[in-house]
Amino acid sequence: MQIPRSTHRTATAGRAERPADAAAVASRLAALHVGARTELDHRDAVELLVATVLSAQTTDVRVNQVTPELFSRWPDPAALAGAEEAAVAEVVRPLGMGPTRARRIIALARDLLAHHDGRVPDDQAALEALPGVGRKTAHVVRGAWFGHSLLAVDTHVGRLSRRLGWTARTAPRQVEQDVVAQVEADGTGADAEELTVLGLRLILHGRRVCTARSPRCGQCVLVDICPQVGVT
Ligand code: SF4
Repeated sequence: MQIPRSTHRTATAGRAERPADAAAVASRLAALHVGARTELDHRDAVELLVATVLSAQTTDVRVNQVTPELFSRWPDPAALAGAEEAAVAEVVRPLGMGPTRARRIIALARDLLAHHDGRVPDDQAALEALPGVGRKTAHVVRGAWFGHSLLAVDTHVGRLSRRLGWTARTAPRQVEQDVVAQVEADGTGADAEELTVLGLRLILHGRRVCTARSPRCGQCVLVDICPQVGVT
C-alpha cells in the first residue's frame, strides 16, 4: 500500500531530526504488540533450534506448515540423526532447497548428540559451532528459550533500526552493536529480556506496519518520533 500523499505530508510535517528515542519506541511497541513471542511453533529448545535453522530464506508461516510432520516422525535428535536424508528432504521440500535443509538439520541433530547429549547448549560459542547455526539463530534460541537479553538481527530489525535512525549500517553484527548502544543510551525501562522482546516487537512491526516497500507511516504509533517517515 502506498502512503497517501496527504498522509505523507501530515506525517513529515512533524518529522523528527534525531534518532527515535529507544525508550519511547520500546514502550509504544510493547503496548501495540502485547505478548510478542517467536512465531515459530515449538515445544522445546531442540524444536525451536531446528525450526529457526529451517527458517533461513523462508517464512515462519511456511516453517510452521512442515514442522508438525517433521517433529512427529523424528521427535528428538536421536531420531533425526538416524533419519534418511531423502525422507526428511521430502517433508521440508515446500520450503525450497529440501535436500540442503535436510542435510543441515540431520547434521545438526548428530552434533547435538555427539557433543551435547542431545540437548541445546545455553552457550553462544557452542551454538555457533553447530551446523547451520549463526549468531542470529543462537540469539533467537538463547533469547526466546533461555531468557537472555539478546538482539536477533533479521531483515526487519535491520530495516527498522535504520529507519528509526539507530544505525546507518547494514551488516547484522554492526546493526546489533549500534542498536545495543542506542538502547543503553536511552534506556528502555524494560525487563532483563529487553533486547529480546524489543527485537521480537520490531519484527512484528516490520511485518505489519513498517513494511519494506510501503511503510504505513500514517497508521504508525512511531510517526512523531521517526526520522524516516515515508522514506522507503
Ligand atoms: S512506518 Fe513510517 S513512521 Fe513507522 S517506523 Fe516505519 S518509517 Fe517510521
